[in-house]
Amino acid sequence: MRLANLQGRAVLTDGVDGIDLARSSGERFSSDPMDAFAAWDEIRGFAASADPASGEALDFTQLGPCVPRPSAVYAIGLNYRDHAAEAGLDVPASPMVFTKFPSCLVGPRAEVPLSGDRVDWEAELVVVIGRLADHVDEARAFEHVAGCCVGQDVSDRRAQFKDKPPQFSLGKSRAAFGPIGPWLTSLDDVGDPDDLAMYCDVAGERMQDSRTSEMIFSVAELVSFLSAHCVLQPGDLIFTGTPAGVGSVREPRRYLTAGELVETEIEGLGRLENRFVVG
Ligand code: ZN
Repeated sequence: MRLANLQGRAVLTDGVDGIDLARSSGERFSSDPMDAFAAWDEIRGFAASADPASGEALDFTQLGPCVPRPSAVYAIGLNYRDHAAEAGLDVPASPMVFTKFPSCLVGPRAEVPLSGDRVDWEAELVVVIGRLADHVDEARAFEHVAGCCVGQDVSDRRAQFKDKPPQFSLGKSRAAFGPIGPWLTSLDDVGDPDDLAMYCDVAGERMQDSRTSEMIFSVAELVSFLSAHCVLQPGDLIFTGTPAGVGSVREPRRYLTAGELVETEIEGLGRLENRFVVG
């Protein structure tokens, strides 16, 4: 099942067309994408016999963030072996956690205002919590996951590293710095979240080309670890880290400029296309 947010309403989609969840179900289900988690299994059952192709062509420019109002957005730093190697940093012993404040979330085609001259890209798998998770074992972690989507952890490196210790959360939470989507794919349709191809193209040039199998801490390990510290709520997001190829560790360094298109894609989950504009 793929669930998108079209102008604030939950829409079932096949990736091309979509039908309004509330209307097509005779108002059995809420139109609010945030209400989907409380009825997740029922909606999946309904979606199995629904036909998105009978609806209208999806206007991607009108899609909002597939999870518009999570209570929290967790993000993991340095979670890819290839990225740790290119940055010349040791592999961490436990996940490095920061937050992207939820006000930075935008849809898959949103324009992103540049906040300065050191704005960087980070393609990421985003995990969406489906059920409350409090001290969950790794073995049962996926029972608490609704699905996954593509995320772009846009980062202002100047703001991030201006202070010591660094300000990860502030440098990564500016307006529109959290594109997600294009829709939420339910876990049963994700395949193996720990082994998906992922890419990031900037102005048509491939910058990141990796697999989630490069992750140091797996999806189940991250859910279990985070749930041992915080109570994870339905709809909460986990940005699981980025692979090699970000601009700040390239030789020479490469940052985004106005007019450039960033395309972020994960196998089976879809693609974000975000244009960066003058801030
Ligand atoms: Zn990141």
